[in-house]
Amino acid sequence: MTCLLTRPVVALVAATLGGLVAATTMHAQTPTTTAPLPPPGVTPPPAPQAVRGDQEGPTIDVEWTSTVVGAPHPGERLCVMLRGAGAPGTPRLCVRGTVAYSAVLVRGAKTTVLPDAVVRRTGRTSVAVNVAGDDIGLRPGALRLIPLTPAGTPDRRTTPLQMTWRRAVVTGCTRTGAGQVSRGPAAGRMVALTFDDGPSTATPAVLDLLKRYKVHATFFVLGGSSTWNPRLLRRVVDEGHTLGVHSWSHARFPSWSDMRQTRNAVKAITGVTPCLFRPPYGLTNGRVVADANGLGMTSVLWSIDTNDWRLPGSGAIADRALRVGPGGIVLMHDGGGPRGQTVAALGTILRGLKARGLEPVSVETLLRYRTEYTLR
Ligand SMILES: [Zn+2]
Repeated sequence: MTCLLTRPVVALVAATLGGLVAATTMHAQTPTTTAPLPPPGVTPPPAPQAVRGDQEGPTIDVEWTSTVVGAPHPGERLCVMLRGAGAPGTPRLCVRGTVAYSAVLVRGAKTTVLPDAVVRRTGRTSVAVNVAGDDIGLRPGALRLIPLTPAGTPDRRTTPLQMTWRRAVVTGCTRTGAGQVSRGPAAGRMVALTFDDGPSTATPAVLDLLKRYKVHATFFVLGGSSTWNPRLLRRVVDEGHTLGVHSWSHARFPSWSDMRQTRNAVKAITGVTPCLFRPPYGLTNGRVVADANGLGMTSVLWSIDTNDWRLPGSGAIADRALRVGPGGIVLMHDGGGPRGQTVAALGTILRGLKARGLEPVSVETLLRYRTEYTLR
């Protein structure tokens, strides 16, 4: 019978019979893909004792508490199975690692790293992950979080968590820090593309390009144009972009009541209260900044002016925009005149930023402002 057995099976039989030396010898000669065994004296870690889950705006926060200090251990994953809420195929959300943690989504045999998930240690025996519901495919509805054992089976000792996943709708943001800025922090290699003087007939082409490149921008809008184009203004918000106030009709040094009227029009049309203001022509003074701040808005200037309103040609617009460095704010226009050159330059700009490892984000994100949401 022995002659019929292959080498790995011999090794397995030897190990099962307690022949550790024989097994080691056989493994030394036989390539193996099995996970490394824990060192002598170390027992495999137990399943998590408790799992907590909450919706925080558009993100889900899941925390595992174990009895083992420092879990997860090498090679271990802490996982929950997601059932319901548009999670087909019951994917598993897992945290792995010991020093540098990462989060993964396991769907069938496919494991996807979640690069935007934030994993943090919340105590000596607990670890938590925060990840956007969109990134793991959640849709509004009932959701169950089922804790899993280290073997990957539902852990019957831990109660599954029931929650309702809701649609998070932006209602505004909270400004902090300097009352007027012309750039954000360089750390994180983020930049902000901003478009002034819309909404206008050029805005849809800008939105189409931003959507194609999966990028969010900031639109400083005129109150008058907004009331003429309410559907367009709502589209800007629905596609995840940020709105800021630019005054009602582009007056120099707009009054407090002008800013307030524009802010209230944007809020009435979209449900979003802006926390950003851009002074027309960049003309600013202490009174303008104080009025904007008093209305809960930061005055936002720029570090790069593309001069696109002068119609210098799309190549020149792209060249200027791509001089931006980390933390920079780029000024462009989606209204106030013919904007074909700006639209023509935008694809080149977005590809150029990506090639330089710069991530375009909204001004709110660049300045690390907190976005306010309501759950529906
Ligand atoms: Zn303007």
